[in-house]
Amino acid sequence: MPMHPQPALTRPHFAVLLLAIVMAACGEDSPGPQDVLLPFGTLQGQVVTSAETNFADVTARVVWGSQNLTAAVQSDGSFDVEIIDAVSGFGMLTIEPGPNEPIHPGWVLLSPGDVGANPGTVVLAPKMWTVDSGDYAGVEVPIDPQLAADGRVMPSFWGFYFPFFQNGFLQTVTDNSEWAAEFRGWPPNAFPIPVALDRLGSDGDISAADSIAFWGHVEVMEAALGWDAFAPAPLEDVRILGGARRPADAIIVQLDSSVAVRGVGVINRADVRTYGLSADATTWSGTNVRNISVVSADITYGIIRLETSGLFSDRQLVIHELMHVLGAGHGCSWASVQTYCASLLSDVPTAPDVAHLAVMMEMRALELEHDSRWGILASVFGHRVVTLGLTPVPGIDLTYGPVSAPADWHRSGGGR
Ligand SMILES: [Zn+2]
Ligand SMILES: [Zn+2]
Repeated sequence: MPMHPQPALTRPHFAVLLLAIVMAACGEDSPGPQDVLLPFGTLQGQVVTSAETNFADVTARVVWGSQNLTAAVQSDGSFDVEIIDAVSGFGMLTIEPGPNEPIHPGWVLLSPGDVGANPGTVVLAPKMWTVDSGDYAGVEVPIDPQLAADGRVMPSFWGFYFPFFQNGFLQTVTDNSEWAAEFRGWPPNAFPIPVALDRLGSDGDISAADSIAFWGHVEVMEAALGWDAFAPAPLEDVRILGGARRPADAIIVQLDSSVAVRGVGVINRADVRTYGLSADATTWSGTNVRNISVVSADITYGIIRLETSGLFSDRQLVIHELMHVLGAGHGCSWASVQTYCASLLSDVPTAPDVAHLAVMMEMRALELEHDSRWGILASVFGHRVVTLGLTPVPGIDLTYGPVSAPADWHRSGGGR
């Protein structure tokens, strides 16, 4: 039995374990010091979720090389998994809730520095979300992290994508070895966000009828969301930043005949990298993805550009772009105002849209509050690996055709 180089006996249950092993060795040949088994270290963590649970049936599991070690998650969400043998390379932590627990599993990639480090927080997604106000008040919606991450038209509803080049309707993946995500949202105190029709920044006339139609769509959208997301503002009340025309802490709406598609939603570039995850993933993903980069950053402005005046009356297009500037991507996964799949198209946010947007906003807030890099990403991986038996990272699944071609595009980064 190898002697392990490490650990300081700082925790009482280490001492109990040591005593038990020494006692078990009695009656054999007298034990030498090399028979004393000390754990290599402890992986400490904390599970956080918006769901109501005391974690009565939740297991934390670390698989690292040939080691497969578990510990029960305590009622306060904390867990300590004792790692017996020295580790190298990458290990995996899974948080495995029993079937009656209201949370999705988590899946986290570990590196040796995580053992013995300060406890890491894992933010887990609820399995159900009850909408508490608006048109869908009281509706219980199943939350599906895998579908929310499905990027058939990128980015996915929760902001995942393979780097791509967009030309009109066509998305071309430029790097299929990199899987990226931008979790974006306005700071909680930003609501209601001032919204102004930007006649000065438009290259055509936004008519009174366009304005009436637009604000009607905003009202319908807010009734579906169940909260006051937007506040109409006169353009002169919005601070316009210099250089590329863009607003500060507000949304402007322009008529712009130069956009190559019907509508565009633009938000500020995600230049605040609050956390990231990067690893040589060839050994664990089962795909050719080698790097995963995740950015979570506040939205500080939004610009919506519509190609023609008539599009102001297109309820689906207007709300779709407003959902983009709130941080939602695309999806063909459920009936949605964000989909291009004709049979699933809605012209207002559906209950799954409202719930998945709310969960993304809440999980992002919890990740920031707990300074965690294991949240939305861990829930997507956990649902795929633990629940569905898939690889952590999905393959590219682009299905463009007449019914699925995007009618708009969405990007972050600068003004015009
Ligand atoms: Zn409002
Ligand atoms: Zn879109």
